[in-house]
Amino acid sequence: MRTYLDHNATTPLRPQAREAMMAALDMGGNPSSIHAEGRAARALVEKSRKTIADALGVIPAMVVFTGVGTEANNAAIKGAQVDRIIISDVEHSCVLEAARATGKPVEIIPVDDNGVIALEILAATLASSHEDTFAPSGKALVSVMLANNETGVIQPVAEVAELTSRFGGVFHTDAVQALGKIPVNFGLLGVDMMTLSSHKVGGPQGVGALIMRDGVTLDKYIHGGGQELGRRGGTENVAGIAGFAAAVEAALEDNTKKQIEIKALRDLFESKLQAVSPDVTIFGQGVERLPNTSYIALEGLKAQTTLINLDLEGIAVSTGSACSSGKVTGSRVLKSMGVEEGLRESALRISFGWTSTEKDVEKFIEIWQQLVERHNQTAAA
Ligand code: PLP
Repeated sequence: MRTYLDHNATTPLRPQAREAMMAALDMGGNPSSIHAEGRAARALVEKSRKTIADALGVIPAMVVFTGVGTEANNAAIKGAQVDRIIISDVEHSCVLEAARATGKPVEIIPVDDNGVIALEILAATLASSHEDTFAPSGKALVSVMLANNETGVIQPVAEVAELTSRFGGVFHTDAVQALGKIPVNFGLLGVDMMTLSSHKVGGPQGVGALIMRDGVTLDKYIHGGGQELGRRGGTENVAGIAGFAAAVEAALEDNTKKQIEIKALRDLFESKLQAVSPDVTIFGQGVERLPNTSYIALEGLKAQTTLINLDLEGIAVSTGSACSSGKVTGSRVLKSMGVEEGLRESALRISFGWTSTEKDVEKFIEIWQQLVERHNQTAAA
C-alpha cells in the first residue's frame, strides 16, 4: 500500500470524476455536430461548464475550457492586450516563461521571507510607470497566483486586483492550487481572469479552464474552429471536461468537513515532525497557507536522497514544483524568499488531500525519524 502525499503535483482521480468520464467516453459524439449524438455531447459540455461556473460564482459564458492549466496561463499572459507585464517572484514557471516569451517588458515584484508579495512595491511599480506611460501605451497585465504550489502560501489577491484596477491594468490570477482547497469566488476576488486545472482537484490531467470577465478580450492564440465562443478552437475534450466538473462538484461538496479534516491532519503532521526533529523549518508557517500543504527542510538531510529513501519505503512526496524538481540549487520560490542554498537543497513538499489519513502521517513520521537518526549518527561519526 503506497502512501501518496503529493496532491499538489496531481490529486488522485476522484471516483465521481472517473464515473462521469466513463459515461462520457461511452456516449461519443462531437459537441459541434448537430445530430442527436452531437447534441448530447454539447449538452454534457454545457452542463459541466455550468457546474464550474456555479462553483466560482460566475456565468457559464465566462468559462473557457483549455487543454491544461499551463495553456490557460499562456493564453491570459500572451493574449492580454497590454504593453507591459508585472508578475510576482514566486509564480509558476509557465507564468514566468509565458511573460518572457511575449517580448514585452516584464517587471518582477519581490516577496517577503514568508513568500507574500510586497504590495507597496507593486503599488510603486504601477504608480511610477502609470505617471509616465499610462494608457493607451502603458497598460499593464498583473499576474499574481492565489496560492503557491510549493509553500501553499496564499497571496492577498483581492488587494492586488484592487490596486491593478486603480491603475487601469488587467489582473490575472493563477488559482490552480487554490480551487478545492480554499473557497474561491471570482467576483469577490475582483479579478479579470483566472486559471484552473482539473488534475489539482481530483479530475483528469489534460484539462483546464480560463475564466474571463465580460469585456476582457485576448489576442487569439489558437486558430481553428469557432469552439468556446471563438476563444479557443479545437474539439472539446468532452470526457475530460465532464470529469473536471464532477471533481469540482465533489471537492466543493465535501469542502468544509473534509478541509477541516485535512487541515487537522496537516497540523498533526507538523507537530509530530517538530517533536521528532525540533530543528526542522516549516516554510510560510507564519502566514495564511493552504490547509493541505507543508513545505519543510532539515539542514543536512538532502531532499533528493530523502525523496528516494521515502519512495523506497512506499511514500510519495516531492522536492517542490514537479517542473523544478531535479534542479541542484533547489527551489526558485525559496530563493525568492531569501532561503539559503543549504536549506533549499533540503526542501521537501508534503501535500495532503482527499485520500489522506492519519495512517499516512504515522507512516511518514516513522520513516522520517529513521532517516533523521541515521543522518545524526553519520554526522556524529
Ligand atoms: N500553476 C500552478 C500554480 C501549478 O501548480 C501548476 C501545476 O503544477 C500549473 C499552473 C500548471 O497546470 P497544468 O499541470 O494543468 O498545466
